[in-house]
Amino acid sequence: MARYIFVTGGVVSSLGKGLSSASLAYLLQSRGFKVRLRKLDPYLNVDPGTMSPFQHGEVFVTDDGAETDLDLGHYERFSGVLAKKSDNITTGKIYNDVLRKERKGKYLGKTVQVIPHITDRIKEFIKNDSSKEDFIICEIGGIVGDIESLPFVEAIRQFANDIGKKNVLFIHLTLVPYLKSSDEIKTKPTQHSVKELRSIGIQPDIIICRSERPIPLEHRKKISLFCNVHIKNVIETVDVKTIYEAPISFSKEKLDVQVLNYFNLRSKKVVNLNPWKKITQIILKTKKQINIAIIGKYVELKDAYKSLDEALIHGGIENKVKINLVRIDSEKLKKNEIKSRLKGISGILIPGGFGKRGTDGKIEAIKYARKNKIPFLGICYGMQMAIIEFARNVLNLKKATSSEFNKNGLPVIGLINEWNKDGKVIKGTDKELGGTMRLGSYEAKLKENSMIKKIYGKKMIEERHRHRYEVNINFKDRFEKKGMIFSGLSPDDTLPEIIELKNHPWFIGVQFHPEFKSRPLSPHPLFSSFIKASKNYK
Ligand code: GLN
Repeated sequence: MARYIFVTGGVVSSLGKGLSSASLAYLLQSRGFKVRLRKLDPYLNVDPGTMSPFQHGEVFVTDDGAETDLDLGHYERFSGVLAKKSDNITTGKIYNDVLRKERKGKYLGKTVQVIPHITDRIKEFIKNDSSKEDFIICEIGGIVGDIESLPFVEAIRQFANDIGKKNVLFIHLTLVPYLKSSDEIKTKPTQHSVKELRSIGIQPDIIICRSERPIPLEHRKKISLFCNVHIKNVIETVDVKTIYEAPISFSKEKLDVQVLNYFNLRSKKVVNLNPWKKITQIILKTKKQINIAIIGKYVELKDAYKSLDEALIHGGIENKVKINLVRIDSEKLKKNEIKSRLKGISGILIPGGFGKRGTDGKIEAIKYARKNKIPFLGICYGMQMAIIEFARNVLNLKKATSSEFNKNGLPVIGLINEWNKDGKVIKGTDKELGGTMRLGSYEAKLKENSMIKKIYGKKMIEERHRHRYEVNINFKDRFEKKGMIFSGLSPDDTLPEIIELKNHPWFIGVQFHPEFKSRPLSPHPLFSSFIKASKNYK
């Protein structure tokens, strides 16, 4: 039977619950155990798909087509375990499911209540779709004390009671602040947070203390005493220079050892930290730096392009070069400023996006990259904008546009109404916005002798998608005559997946999101190649 590890947070948000869970997953896996990671999100959106990245950061997409919280990206990148639809749920989805069941009369006349109906649905999520995992690590979004996360905490309390406390471990992550003025480390917020957790029935077994500086033994003792946790289970996590140090630092603190001790389990293998040590060394030692511009709409919020930032850094690790990400707001990028704003930039990346706002700036930047032979990578919307730029400025189709933002132009980019997946035709709809896109992993066929085939080193690839619009295949010949090659197509030859330019050192657009599959320990070939080209550019 699987053992369950629940990770809650206290004091403030953004302490790195996701990263802690992901690091623990790596350590347990490295010791020979099978691990799965899950997340419960407290907001009312049914999934994060309709939320602006400004609100909650990037929407991470899984192979099986779920739009999920960005923490699932951390989980995949650190543990290598592919996340699934069944690994992320929100309060909105839980209520949605319960209310639908109620409308169908499935509760047989009972009064439908938070306890037991909502909590039962939460418990069902925690357990469902597991297959011989040794551990299921389940992160609870938000912090303890929030009204929103209360039903989750109640559900995990019940869960431990249902399956036996010895099969369940509670980890609580808190902040241990350092006060500069008095040169002191403070344990009180942790004590209060644990008090709050205990008041709703949960005694943590392990406390992870996030701190700016090492926590002296005497303070650990205090936390141990006041929070009723064994001193060995007071684990510190001090700010690291790079996030790839996190598994190393948790291993030093023996987090994984304490987890195994709790469950009375013996390690099956010796933990291997070498890959993390290796990349940490590369990151800390690398001196050469290049500037990569990300030109998009959501540049103000750091987490809006999380997987993308990560994938670029992975490409940097592979090429032993530091990546300085220069975020440029496409809405504020004026035509006459392009040259000066892009001075010193070695590579230009236009990420995914939605809606008209900021498209002019993107198109101008693409034109600049094309003409000046600056390495260019267009992702999803970025590829669509590259198509529009080429149509307008090379094919002289001045009215070329996407029907996403102009219904009266020439739609070189148009709405997809149906597509093939696993031999089945899937119909899209534009009535509801949530969950109606081409989502998840699809195959693409790469053209012989193309740059992209050289990069991937194989003919068929699988990448994750998240879009409603598609490059209109009917324009293919016209584009190809002028030097833009459609070098990747869907297996049935109807949907353009990749474009590249003949007379350009590195100009590629992809309809999918390669960034979701890049990992620090195995950088994505497309990003490695893009960074290599950018490194050689200047
Ligand atoms: N807005 C575009 C579409 O829906 C692109 C989406 C994206 O970049 N992820 O097709």
